Amino acid sequence: MLLDGRKTAEERNLLLKERIEKDVQLYHRPPGLAIIMVGEQPASMSYVKGKLKACERVGIHHRLIQLDESINETDLANHIESLNHDETIDGMILQLPIPKHLDESRLIDCIAKDKDADGFHVINQGYLYQRKPGIQPATPKGIMSLLSAYGITVSGMDAVIIGRSNIVGFPIARLLMDEGATITVCHRKTKDLKTHTSKADLLVVASGKPNLVTRDMVKPGVIIVDVGVNRVNDKLVGDVDFESLQGVASYITPVPGGVGPMTINALLENTYLLYQKHLKKTVV
Ligand code: NAD
Repeated sequence: MLLDGRKTAEERNLLLKERIEKDVQLYHRPPGLAIIMVGEQPASMSYVKGKLKACERVGIHHRLIQLDESINETDLANHIESLNHDETIDGMILQLPIPKHLDESRLIDCIAKDKDADGFHVINQGYLYQRKPGIQPATPKGIMSLLSAYGITVSGMDAVIIGRSNIVGFPIARLLMDEGATITVCHRKTKDLKTHTSKADLLVVASGKPNLVTRDMVKPGVIIVDVGVNRVNDKLVGDVDFESLQGVASYITPVPGGVGPMTINALLENTYLLYQKHLKKTVV
């Protein structure tokens, strides 16, 4: 069965739109999201366009700040700082990747933690790892919402995650563990991937390597969440061999139309959470 991220995200976005409409009547301003983009990578541009369109659909005001790829770190940090103080902006994201001469980690930490719509700030990541309420990274949060929409309870499952990045692999491991799954995290140095994947009840693949997981590597009935987005011969594909796995998995996400729309939905939901937090501070 397909885990249809597009449909699930649309349903959640509709509910969000209704909540925003009510709040706008009460507080006379919509939530605001700023997206900072450095340089003009076509892939990033297409992700950004998707995010802007989604904002429009739910009634989030958006501002795109496009900066030249030669910008220096101080100037970029100054742009972030001015958005930190902008009362019409509740959340912001720095669209990744950014050019190599800029320190990504330092710049993300320049975003005020209460405007960190992507949930990448070191303090929000700290809250996540200590199981305290905060802003969760959008992709792992979107995956959890998708599993929940299909009534999938991960408690007691053996969950195998391929990838250990700060934005996907590591935080999804934390969230799945919090929900009672037993976790194995695989990565580039893992000796024999198949030994681990073949035991998985739930397999989350976030490697950026097309066809990394094939039919012979999983057991029948496995639930597969394919996070990967790769362009192969002008076509978008994930990290798993979807054609051969569709018949054997009990649930599987398509690419596109799986994790991607859920990530955007989680970004919108994070912006809304930050808006509410901001209103509580400013509306008496
Ligand atoms: P990353 O490059 O930071 O991390 C990749 C991880 O995969 C690393 O931990 C690495 O050790 C592991 N890996 C790579 N090759 C491997 C191999 N052969 N065997 C085992 N492990 C291997 O990437 P990321 O930012 O975590 O993104 C992963 C993928 O997910 C990319 O394709 C990215 O485009 C996609 N992505 C999609 C969304 C979405 O919304 N759909 C969001 C974020 C990332």
